[in-house]
Order: sequence, then structure tokens, then C-alpha cells
Amino acid sequence: MAEDCIFCRIVAGDIPGRIVAETDHAVAFLDANPLAPGHTLVVPREHYARLDEIPAEEAADLFAAVHELTDSVEGAVDADAVSIGINDGEAAGQEVPHTHVHLVPRFEGDGGGPFHAINPNSEQPSDAELDEIADAIRDA
Ligand code: AMP
Ligand code: ZN
Repeated sequence: MAEDCIFCRIVAGDIPGRIVAETDHAVAFLDANPLAPGHTLVVPREHYARLDEIPAEEAADLFAAVHELTDSVEGAVDADAVSIGINDGEAAGQEVPHTHVHLVPRFEGDGGGPFHAINPNSEQPSDAELDEIADAIRDA
């Protein structure tokens, strides 16, 4: 546990959180500043700042919890869909450095955008550039 981490403290019960589900390696609680009713965060029990720091077994458990909870969250607030995302790193907008998956209920006509709204002016790469990037990812 990281003493100065707000999510570690919620997991440990040191500060209040509206916990909605717990598994061996994951805890889910309501976001305190929700983007929509039912906005839920799913976090690993242990403190890992970034997704790639989570050991495979714990990551599998985390994503199993996300898989299970998506339907519960959507149904609980009678939503039409759910946006699921991780701000993985400060440059991606991560403010709390304990990795967390956002489940944001979405409603027809709610005015929120898709993930492409992150950078609507991104330039379309050429086929050669796409090939090069795909190779780099395969080789990484
Ligand atoms: P991110 O910007 O991806 O790091 O998201 C951090 C999220 O944590 C935001 O949606 C905040 O509203 C939420 N948050 C911050 N403090 C708390 C807290 N004490 N309990 C629940 N959610 C929190
Ligand atoms: Zn933490």
C-alpha cells in the first residue's frame, strides 16, 4: 500500500468509498466526481501506477471484474451503453497514480463523444506509416 495514495486508502478502508464490488485482486467503487450517474472505477488492490506494472494474474482478475461489472453498472442506472477507458500515464490525463479503469454509463443523446474525441484533428497516417508502426509494436 502507498500511504499517500487515495485509492490505496479507499481499498484499505481508511477513507470512505462507495465500494460496489470486490474480488481477490480488484475493488470497484463509485467515482466521487462522476461524469454520469453510476460512473465507477475498478482498481487493482495493490498499488500499481501504470497498467503494465500489474502482474498478469492480477490484470486478468481486474479485467474480469470490468467484464462482470459493465452490465451491472449499465443496468443499475438504466443506461444505453458504457464508455470504458484508462488514462494510462500523466500525458493521457491520469491524475491519480494508482491505475484504474473508468466505467462511464452513456445515454442516447448525452452529448459526450467517442474515444476519437480525444484528438479529433489527428492526421491520417499513410499506409507506409501504418505498416511501420505495426512492425514497431510487433517488435516491442
Ligand atoms: P484519472 O483522471 O483517470 O486519474 O481519474 C481519476 C478519477 O478519480 C476522477 O474521475 C476523480 O473524480 C476520481 N476520484 C478522485 N478522488 C476520488 C475519491 N476520493 N473517491 C472516488 N473517486 C475519486
Ligand atoms: Zn495506490
